[in-house]
Parts: sequence; structure tokens; C-alpha cells
Amino acid sequence: EARSSGDAGGRPRRRVVVFPLPFQGHINPMLQLADALHDRGLAVTVLHTGFNAPDPTCRPEFRFVPVPDGVPGEVATSGDVIGILDAMNAAMEAEDSAALQGVLASVIADDEQPPVACIVFDSNLLAVPRAAAAVGLKTLVLRTASAACFGCFLAYPMLHRKGYLPPQESNMYMPVKELPPLRVRDLFYSSWSDQNKMSNLLARAIEAVNNSSGLVINTFDALEPAELEKIRKEFCVPVVLAPGPLHKLSSKSTGSSLLNEDCDCIKWLDKQPPKSVLYVSFGSLASLNANEFLEVAWGLTNSGHSFLWVVRPDLVRGLDNPGFPNGFEAAVEGRGKVIRWAPQQEVLAHSAVGGFWTHNGWNSTLESISERIPMICRPQFADQMMNTRYVEKTWGVGFELEGELKRGKIEKATRKLMEEREGDEMRERAKELKNKVGDSLRVGGSSQIAIDKLVKHILSLSL
Ligand code: UDP
Repeated sequence: EARSSGDAGGRPRRRVVVFPLPFQGHINPMLQLADALHDRGLAVTVLHTGFNAPDPTCRPEFRFVPVPDGVPGEVATSGDVIGILDAMNAAMEAEDSAALQGVLASVIADDEQPPVACIVFDSNLLAVPRAAAAVGLKTLVLRTASAACFGCFLAYPMLHRKGYLPPQESNMYMPVKELPPLRVRDLFYSSWSDQNKMSNLLARAIEAVNNSSGLVINTFDALEPAELEKIRKEFCVPVVLAPGPLHKLSSKSTGSSLLNEDCDCIKWLDKQPPKSVLYVSFGSLASLNANEFLEVAWGLTNSGHSFLWVVRPDLVRGLDNPGFPNGFEAAVEGRGKVIRWAPQQEVLAHSAVGGFWTHNGWNSTLESISERIPMICRPQFADQMMNTRYVEKTWGVGFELEGELKRGKIEKATRKLMEEREGDEMRERAKELKNKVGDSLRVGGSSQIAIDKLVKHILSLSL
């Protein structure tokens, strides 16, 4: 159905505005969704903040329009995600979201472009619904985390009522029987100290969905059937669509990385035997302390396995560009490679990669599943714990590395995943799961149907 939404000459008849939350794990799926909509004949305008602004040259076919974000320099460089989010939302909501309204009004008024049908925004951008309503623009919400994660938003009041929350040290491993397979420790808000603020944020995210013209979740029906069904039952929005994994939906190859991807690592992978390499990356935000960093370095070394390890400049708390321990480089020569940022989807798709040690951000989880790669899971915050739980319990394609990070444990976990029977069984299940991804993406598959429905729905929305 490519180009189905263009006119007879193939020119777009409608335009969508997209507004991602400016963090890597949110920018990627939003731009992937925009690619898929563009492939199907819609024009795209991307709103972005100055903070973590995407590189417009990666997508010359899109328009990029800045929105003032009000994040002070020292907050922007602090690495404090919640602080940045608070500053951004406060600035965008100031004076009744006047600045954002102004941007939206001028985007709508741009008559060199096809008329705007709607704005697709990240549900964490709290100022969007009001500003969009003020200029008469319909909204669609993109959730970049799992359906299970949004299900937990909905369950928050129930979890309080039933005494699971606020969490107690003593009930961390208690199963939440209303939300299998989760335990109290897997609920992302267990880690939040300010429950009032949390409850307010969750309520606003839910309200944004309820007041929208539709909800898009980066997942697919066969992956989270019960979780999606629950959301479809509880919301009366016109559509709840699951066209994921979004990175597989468009044939476009350009990425949206905020850091430069080290593509030489692919040449290095080309020289390694099939399934021999453990890929190690903790995403764009999770970090280690200096001691954990050393334990990881020696654990990987002592495992005897080949590895490709992403060490971001800010991976180690308190150290810029951390140094490796004495003897590390010599010990791993030829079988260990360290890079600053990976072309991750390409790495995971490479035949030399046999395992992924991940923090289980939702994108990394989906990307791993899409390429049949089993996982060692080391979640830190937000939805990472619940993603780990699904990986281990529901899909059986990985296991958690729990407790203090120690080299001996890392060595054992690496061996388990890469050479032992249990690892092989996970690899088999990962293959089956990859087939389900393939089924959903095939013509007539659930994700293709969902994206086509979304395009139709967008075309039916008018100013
Ligand atoms: N990523 C990448 N190169 C890296 C590490 C991560 O391109 O070296 C990408 C990864 O493919 C994913 C995103 O960054 O799309 C991280 O999102 P995720 O939800 O996994 O984690 P977050 O960074 O939000 O914690």
C-alpha cells in the first residue's frame, strides 16, 4: 500500500507532525514511525528541542522545526533525566503553552506543505495536548515502551489499593498476581521515591491518551496479546494500534543516533566465527560506577569469549572516557573490541553475534528479539526491570544477572549464554520469536495491517 496516501502524481495529500521526547530511546521509534508513514505517502514535519536535537541531514525529506525547550545548560549536561524532563515540561507549559502553540500554528499555516492531519507525540511531553487543542489539532500518542508498561500505568491505583505499593523491602519478590509475570520489584515505579509526583504523571499520561484520537504502541500483537487486549478494553480511544517493531517497518537505513556510530566494528565482526561474539551495551542512559566498570572488563576478559562492548563517554559515573585496567587490552587482543557507540541494529543482525548483554531498554529488547539474539539482562531503572522479567519468564529468551556485579558472576553468565545448554535453549526460543516478528511484518501480518489502519485513520482526521 506504499504511497496509498498520495495524490495521483504520488505527492503527499496530508502531513503528520511528530514530536519525540528528546532521548535516544524515544527519538528512534518516533522517527521510525515517521519513516513508515512517509513510505506510505505522508509528508512529515519533525518538532524537536534544542536539547538532543536530531540531525536533519539524515532525513532530507522531512521538515525539522525547533521548539524552545527551556532546559538550562547545567541541567542539560547533568545526566539527570527527570530533572531535564521536569525543566522541559515546565518551560513548554509556561504561559498556557504559548510558545508551543505558536510553533504549531506556524507549522499548520505553512501552505508550501500539504495540510496537517494530526500530531503524533510522545506521551511524556505533557504540554502537547493542551497546545494542540488550542490550535484545533488532533493528537495521536506514541508509547515507546511495551504494552505491559502502559498496563502498569493503568494498574497504579489498584496496586496501591491492594497494598503492593508503596513497595516494602520485605515484599519485593512477591508476585503481583493481577499482572503476571511481574513481581513488586519489577514495577518500574517501585524505585520512585516521590509517589505523589509519580501518580500525577501517570494520570496525565493516561488522560493524554483518553483525550487523543488514537494510541500507537511499539509492540506487536503476538508478543503481548493479553497486555494489548487489556489496554484495548480499558480505553475508548478510536484506535489502539501495535505496528511494531517499528525499526523493521521501514526499509530506510539511516539511523537517528545522537552519537557517531562506529561502523568499523562491522568489519571486525566480519572476521569472527558465527555466533561467537557477545555484544555488550547498556543503551544511552544506564551507567556503571568505577568499580563495576572494572568488574565488567575483567569478567568479559576471563570468560574467554569474544565481545563487542559499547563504552559511551558517559558510561562510568564520575569519569569522562574511563581508562581500562592495566593489562586489559593485551589480554583481549583479537577477541575483544571496545567502541563508543554501535550501529546496534546492524550489529545484532550480524551472523557473528551470538548473545547480547543488555540493560533491557525496550528498543534494545525489541531489536534483540527481531534478530533472534538471546540476552543476559542487567536492568537498572524505569521499565527495564519489567522488560527483563518478560524476557526471562514469558519469552524465555534470556536471564537476569542479579545482585552486585562481580567478575566471577559475569564470567559464568557469559558462559551460560554462549556455550551451555540453557543458552542454546534460549537461542532456540529466540529463533521462534524472530519468526513471529517476521509473521507480523509480512504482507497481511498484524503490524502491516496496523500501520495501514493508522495511515487510513490519519487521513480521516482533518483540521
Ligand atoms: N543504540 C545504538 N548504539 C549503541 C547503543 C544503543 O544505536 O551503541 C540504540 C539502540 O539500538 C536503541 C537505542 O539506542 O534503539 C536505545 O534505546 P533503549 O530503549 O534500548 O534504551 P535507552 O537508551 O532508552 O535506555
